[in-house]
Amino acid sequence: MPLIVGGGPAGAAAAIGLASAGLSPTILERSNGEQDALCGGFLSWNTVRQLADLGIDTALLGGHPVDRLALFAGKRTARFALPAPGVGLSRRTLDAAMLDAARQAGAEIRYGVTVRRVEPGTLYLADDSILRANRIVLATGKHDLRGMARPVVCDDPAMGLRWRFRASPALAERIAGAIELHLFDHGYAGLVMQEDGHANLCLAIRHSAFVAAGQRPEAVLAGLIDREPALRQRLDEEHPGPAQAIANVPYGWRATARDAHGLYRVGDQAGVIPSLAGEGVGIALATGTTAARAILEGEAPSAFQHDLARRLRRPIATASLLWHAAERPMLATAALPIIAHLPGVVERAMRMTRVSITQTSTNSPVLL
Ligand SMILES: Cc1cc2nc3c(=O)[nH]c(=O)nc-3n(C[C@H](O)[C@H](O)[C@H](O)COP(=O)(O)OP(=O)(O)OC[C@H]3O[C@@H](n4cnc5c(N)ncnc54)[C@H](O)[C@@H]3O)c2cc1C
Repeated sequence: MPLIVGGGPAGAAAAIGLASAGLSPTILERSNGEQDALCGGFLSWNTVRQLADLGIDTALLGGHPVDRLALFAGKRTARFALPAPGVGLSRRTLDAAMLDAARQAGAEIRYGVTVRRVEPGTLYLADDSILRANRIVLATGKHDLRGMARPVVCDDPAMGLRWRFRASPALAERIAGAIELHLFDHGYAGLVMQEDGHANLCLAIRHSAFVAAGQRPEAVLAGLIDREPALRQRLDEEHPGPAQAIANVPYGWRATARDAHGLYRVGDQAGVIPSLAGEGVGIALATGTTAARAILEGEAPSAFQHDLARRLRRPIATASLLWHAAERPMLATAALPIIAHLPGVVERAMRMTRVSITQTSTNSPVLL
């Protein structure tokens, strides 16, 4: 029976696809199921639709409806309608709902199991035991297994910082219904309301900017509140608390057939889209579902990975271009008033950074 390493959105989507077709996959998840993964916490309209196809209703989970994008650079602002509504939803709630759906479909979930190393057909666990399976799905997301590291081809790599906190009524009212992107030198911040009156503030910044702030997340945030008027307006009276951090995010990377090593790599292990696109979870769902279909149809891992790399090329390349432009403040500040008058161009960019999904005859969504 297939083994799935990692119980994030990609692993859970693969498990739902396999279990729904009558196989009995097992998810090996190193956490105890209580984690709240570092994430911008915005789910695009495309992601919401895929979740609905998997039987998960984000409105029932309390997702905060988001119908517009607000961009800020210096003192400039531009607002755009999203092609269709997305939601703000915490990863704690999303991941729990997905694992629940996988269990109900017939998957087994083993918590507290850490995989250290993998070879075709064999998994080596942290407790020194060994598991064997003909089909293995690698869904460890942001974490690389020994010997399977994704290269960070940049001397100033990106890192993520995240605060999730109860929003004051003033902040909740100010940002309601929007995904806000605040662009600044060497990075950007995403701000969105989520379920239960919490706000999620997530930064993707260059490592050099973190070093310049003494490698202290609270100093990074204080500096931004000092320099960026729109962030100051929103966060001056808030109490975000301690941050979560993740280093060396390999934005732009895609696994090729050579990287498959006999495994079906999905989610962030298949490709890492710059997070300002808000499509990482969408890619996780689409690739997890497509891996399930590949396994059911007997497609070899290398062929699966080759095909996936081709299909992920456009959204990841487009998002990488936008990311590089966004973190150059002079460019972003000059561009904002121009693109404010070109909502069609912005909508096209939003659409080009989505994974393209269709329904099969069995009604399960797959990557096209
Ligand atoms: C700063 C930042 C902001 C982002 N914002 C957004 C956003 O707003 N919207 C969006 O759609 N995407 C966003 N993303 C991207 C999104 O978080 C990822 O694309 C998505 O989480 C990938 O899902 P996954 O299932 O592949 O991996 P993950 O979500 O990382 O899940 C991997 C799972 O595997 C488990 N695991 C790891 N190692 C092992 C092991 N050795 N053994 C067993 N289990 C293991 C982990 O505990 C985890 O549960 C953001 C990313 C970053 C870095």
